[in-house]
Amino acid sequence: LSERLSGVFDKLTKQGALSEDDVKTALREVRIALLEADVSLPVARDFVATVQAKATGQAVTKSITPGQQVVKIVHDELQRVLTGDEDPGALKIDNPPAPILMVGLQGSGKTTTTAKLAKRLKERDGKKVLMASLDTNRPAAMEQLAILGMQIGVDTLPIVAGETPVQIAKRAKVQASLGGYDVYMLDTAGRLHIDAELIAQAAAVRDVANPRETLLVVDGLTGQDAVNVAQEFDDKIGVTGVVLTRMDGDGRGGAALSMRAITGKPIRFVGLGEKMDAIETFEPQRIAGRILGMGDIVALVEKAQETIEAEQAARMMKRFQQGRFNMNDLKMQLEQMLKMGGMEGMMGMMPGAAKMGKQMAAAGMDDGILKRQIALINSMTKKERANPDLLAASRKKRIAAGAGLEVSELNKLIKQHRQMADMMKKMGKGGMLKQAMKGMF
Ligand code: GDP
Ligand code: MG
Repeated sequence: LSERLSGVFDKLTKQGALSEDDVKTALREVRIALLEADVSLPVARDFVATVQAKATGQAVTKSITPGQQVVKIVHDELQRVLTGDEDPGALKIDNPPAPILMVGLQGSGKTTTTAKLAKRLKERDGKKVLMASLDTNRPAAMEQLAILGMQIGVDTLPIVAGETPVQIAKRAKVQASLGGYDVYMLDTAGRLHIDAELIAQAAAVRDVANPRETLLVVDGLTGQDAVNVAQEFDDKIGVTGVVLTRMDGDGRGGAALSMRAITGKPIRFVGLGEKMDAIETFEPQRIAGRILGMGDIVALVEKAQETIEAEQAARMMKRFQQGRFNMNDLKMQLEQMLKMGGMEGMMGMMPGAAKMGKQMAAAGMDDGILKRQIALINSMTKKERANPDLLAASRKKRIAAGAGLEVSELNKLIKQHRQMADMMKKMGKGGMLKQAMKGMF
């Protein structure tokens, strides 16, 4: 993606403003990136259309950092779609014992996730948790949960041969009440594909357990399939959230976007490995970055901006060396100073300016003054900024009034400008300017 976008951003750097065509070109690449990340076609199409609508209106009006603007819009929009209403990590577990039903296809990571969440509830929330395996198809699956339970120090419901999943669910409920458990987790059986029997079984368990949360566990590597599975489970069973597993793998997380856009169900947790601690609360920002390879884009935008700033700095330096330092230059400097954390840090970086820095500090110059000075320069005409010597007394009054300030402040600014212009000229001759500029940009 970064390679494709770099061409687009190169153009932006030169132009400085974003045209509708540029937005289109950039978004064509974004669309491809989404598809490569396993986002489904209709979701990618909708997404790009939304961003296009949001970007074109804005981008042409704000010409400051157009590239960054598009990236930000894309990123924000991704995040908006991915974000659920609630805190994803907060499970509804009041009124003990609270049942949590775990559903999903075989091999998606249900049993592992059940144990991971149990450990989390126990350690983070201090909850007493009971786990029960309802996987009557595979005795080994029941053993697996029992072993994990011992490993993490969480109780499991004793295995009784010959029970149906519904019977186990009922027994778990009784045991959880009698044993004073806060939460009991029901780890259901999965199949390789959704079929009527799997759904019927899960529905029957749901009906007896009346779960507070029904978490669908899906393999994040399966991309588009995961979305179909999610939709089917939600239609037939009703889920309250999704856990995406194997996000430690190569999958690019596109399933998360499709899943959220199509089912509307929040992604609650992300599985990041086989270990019992390898689970995290879902963070939209992270997945957004992963889907677009945002790290690359952000780096690219930064590079583009550096180029712009370096060009600006070079232009300014040339002007200084020629002894031309006008109010526009001063304004740019004042703005830069504000950005860099004010007067003191700034002056510290400029050799030869320490004395002036002290003078300024003694005169009580602070960031408020920087802002007032910028306001003063803003009320000057173009000509006056280019040549402050033009300023007559009457104009001074009007400019000060325009900025809501006293004429004395304006006089101070003019004096300061003259001092700086002199200093720049001297430094330009002495070759010290280059060094000073390094600190500034
Ligand atoms: P179930 O059939 O749905 O219960 O799936 P399991 O919990 O038995 O998991 C199947 C396999 O996937 C096991 O080997 C797990 O260790 C592994 N697994 C589960 N979650 C993750 C994950 O987030 N990342 C990785 N890399 N492996 C996982
Ligand atoms: Mg299992």
